[in-house]
Amino acid sequence: MCHVIGEAIEVAVGRRQVLTGVAAGAAASLVLGKPASAAEIVSQRKRIEATKIEAAQYRTKLMLLGTAGGPAFWPGTDRRSTSSAVAVGDAIYMVDCGDGAGRRLQDAWGSETDGASAIKDVRALFLTHLHSDHIADYPTLILYGTFAGLQVKTPLKVFGPGRRGEMEPVFAPSGVAPTSLPVINPENPTPGTKDMTGYLYQAFATDLNDRVRDTHRPDPNLTIVAQDIVIPEIAGFKSPNETPEPKMEPFKVYEDDRVRVSAILVNHFPVWPAFAFRFDTDDGSIVFSGDTCVSENLIRLARGADILVHEVILSAWVDKILPAPRSEVEESIHNHLLNAHTPVEKVGKVAADAGVSMLVLSHIVPGNARSEELQTAQHGFGGKLVIGEDLLQIGVGKKRI
Ligand SMILES: [Zn+2]
Ligand SMILES: [Zn+2]
Repeated sequence: MCHVIGEAIEVAVGRRQVLTGVAAGAAASLVLGKPASAAEIVSQRKRIEATKIEAAQYRTKLMLLGTAGGPAFWPGTDRRSTSSAVAVGDAIYMVDCGDGAGRRLQDAWGSETDGASAIKDVRALFLTHLHSDHIADYPTLILYGTFAGLQVKTPLKVFGPGRRGEMEPVFAPSGVAPTSLPVINPENPTPGTKDMTGYLYQAFATDLNDRVRDTHRPDPNLTIVAQDIVIPEIAGFKSPNETPEPKMEPFKVYEDDRVRVSAILVNHFPVWPAFAFRFDTDDGSIVFSGDTCVSENLIRLARGADILVHEVILSAWVDKILPAPRSEVEESIHNHLLNAHTPVEKVGKVAADAGVSMLVLSHIVPGNARSEELQTAQHGFGGKLVIGEDLLQIGVGKKRI
């Protein structure tokens, strides 16, 4: 689970400080990858720009906006947290909205249109789950979007998880009763997408009332339509805690003249619901895993797709920041990291089992992992492997221009 990624870094840095007495910055450098050199950064930017020029020749394209996983300010990289978009002609569909997504969307799309209002072309936003590294820029999209194209006549549709409904089981160290742990917002401790959006309007009422009443911007209740994804009846499903990933068929979430979007439950326990999404277009299909361990449902959803965008975590990094012997808390974090995400060496088989043509890595943990550390994703997969980078674009189907 994503918050555990942040916790793991904290624990590792803390332990280094205790053991060695070194400063926090130095400790951080011990647990995180080597930063890119200036020459590497220049060459990366040129490469990314070239992918944008190439993808402009396609009607349908995948645009990676943020490719790091976890709620962390990863040093030594300019990866921002998770967000992607599918563009079909002049329509954009976003998947997740991690920190920096608004800026990245502008960089990916802005110069193709009038350079000022990429958000006006976004028809819908799909949230895989409500961890912060997937939604941190959602407030920005709402607040800045009112000046950047959100409009009443074509409201932005937002689809995401509904309420979890029951609290997740928690790990409590020996001697600590789970009931003694704090609960935020006890009257609704597991809000869904619709609730969250309403709470954001409340939290930002000072700004929004000024914009709506004095600057005469439209009421966000009219420019954004947030909906909780309704999960169909599933045979054998008991509860989020007992059966987080029941075997099921994909179900339709959204359809318009450009795309059909389907969803399925994946396994990012204890976070629930956590979705993967599939976009079918006339030019081809793109699937987003969301956060998940190796998931049979995801493989079913992705069957025969052109592109699978899948999350990964480096097991070696987990072992490095939490080396044995581990305390009770560290052991719990270690297990969570490897059980709620997909180790990079296992993702190739997922792509092969799904029969996809291309595997694109995103939600990369650690966010500053180097390309060569991620090559084991190719194991067991004969198709094309792409190590995701922010702003990288990939055309789908035939060139149209
Ligand atoms: Zn995540
Ligand atoms: Zn997550």
